[in-house]
Amino acid sequence: MEAEHIKCLIIGSGPAGYTAAIYAARADLKPVMYTGMEPGGQLTTTTEVDNFPGYPEGIDGPTMMVQLQQQAERFGTEVRIGMATQVTLSTEVGGMHKVTIDNEKQLEASCIIISTGASAKYLGIPSEQKLRGGGVSACAVCDGFFYKNQKVAIVGGGDTAAEEATYLANICEHVTMLVRKDEMRASKAMQHRVNSRKNITVCYNTEVDEVLGEQVVEGLRMIDTQTKEKKDIEITGLFIAIGHKPNTDIFKNQLEMDDTGYLITAPKSTKTSKPGVFASGDVQDKDYRQAITAAGTGCMAALDAERYLVDVETAVEA
Ligand code: NDP
Repeated sequence: MEAEHIKCLIIGSGPAGYTAAIYAARADLKPVMYTGMEPGGQLTTTTEVDNFPGYPEGIDGPTMMVQLQQQAERFGTEVRIGMATQVTLSTEVGGMHKVTIDNEKQLEASCIIISTGASAKYLGIPSEQKLRGGGVSACAVCDGFFYKNQKVAIVGGGDTAAEEATYLANICEHVTMLVRKDEMRASKAMQHRVNSRKNITVCYNTEVDEVLGEQVVEGLRMIDTQTKEKKDIEITGLFIAIGHKPNTDIFKNQLEMDDTGYLITAPKSTKTSKPGVFASGDVQDKDYRQAITAAGTGCMAALDAERYLVDVETAVEA
């Protein structure tokens, strides 16, 4: 079967992908977007988004993503449901990148914007999965405000958990932090911040045994990993901060990544290690991970892609 040719292929449909699409469509790059398995990305699992500029009353995540899609489509982006399952990226400037969609459809793209995002890791226990959206969240900055003056818990011992525990301590009455080992992985400075807060209790050698509650979180059963002793505490919110996994499996051995799988881009640009392949959003950012920063790099990726295509066309004409 002959491969369909696409000028600008966008893989992923979070704020980075849609912003790239808006800019690419307006620049007449005729972008085609494949949404991936979770159209709209991580924001579709969030409730209220209060920190995206321009929405003084806040907006719920799924509505915001529908609006971003409409805005991208208004300028001619073609949004298709489908998953990129295999890629063969060209090493030549002006070369065609080959992409397989859903293990069957073949595409070749002059340039690609990768905005496949990262997925928050969860513990994977049934009671946690049941209460996702009912008090279990993987983003304190997004959802912490809903637990103002309430008791919450956070799982994890890395920099994210320490930072989010401190953030929650500013809003909530009390924060219980569960660290599975006898020490935190977080930097000393972050640990100091946690330890200096009176309303954070750090429980070492402690894991979640069960999240309590039927419709919403009502409490937490913790287990001491050494003594196996269990203890219940009352909480209304549980934050999981045990890391993120960038969605980069299909790019392994083709694009430069750091040791945790995040795509590496050239400083102050979205260029990856292959010409004509750009990365934006959480797939290349493990530090900020906000909708607005993802949108910003989506814009950068479309501008970088436009410049790349102009350079290639100019070289062909010369
Ligand atoms: P990390 O991978 O650094 O830490 C994950 C934490 O979660 C570890 O404490 C780990 O425990 C724990 N964990 C993992 N799986 C489980 C589980 N199943 N049950 C209980 N606990 C679990 O991820 P982060 O998101 O914290 O950080 C990612 C990167 O981003 C790091 O490089 C970090 O330095 C950086 N970062 C920097 C910030 C800053 O400088 N301001 C802020 C936030 C992140 P264990 O230690 O036992 O493996």
